[in-house]
Amino acid sequence: MDSAKHCVACAMDLREGATRCPHCQAIQPGAVMHRGGEGRTLLGVCLALGRQLGLDVALVRVLFVIALAVSGGTALGVYLLLWAFTPPSAVGKAPVQRVVDWLTGAVGSSSEPKVERRV
Ligand SMILES: [Zn+2]
Repeated sequence: MDSAKHCVACAMDLREGATRCPHCQAIQPGAVMHRGGEGRTLLGVCLALGRQLGLDVALVRVLFVIALAVSGGTALGVYLLLWAFTPPSAVGKAPVQRVVDWLTGAVGSSSEPKVERRV
């Protein structure tokens, strides 16, 4: 028995460095970037990126606005892609994952809210 960690959702044993529970598919906190937390404005993508890269959120937003102006729409596509693949919280599921779950009929009794709260 080495330093095993446990799933935040179902408390099942996980291997070291696991980012997702093989049993319930819950994303483990600290392993994956997510859009939850303080300081969120639009969809929380800049917040998630900044936290993941260790950059200031304001800097990420400025870089995004510059990228938006320079790329002429490409940055917006990247933003939306990042949103689609980034879960709203550390234990939540990304919008794309929700669609996949819905399509495969795997939507169970999730404890997280169905509708995302937008500030
Ligand atoms: Zn689990």
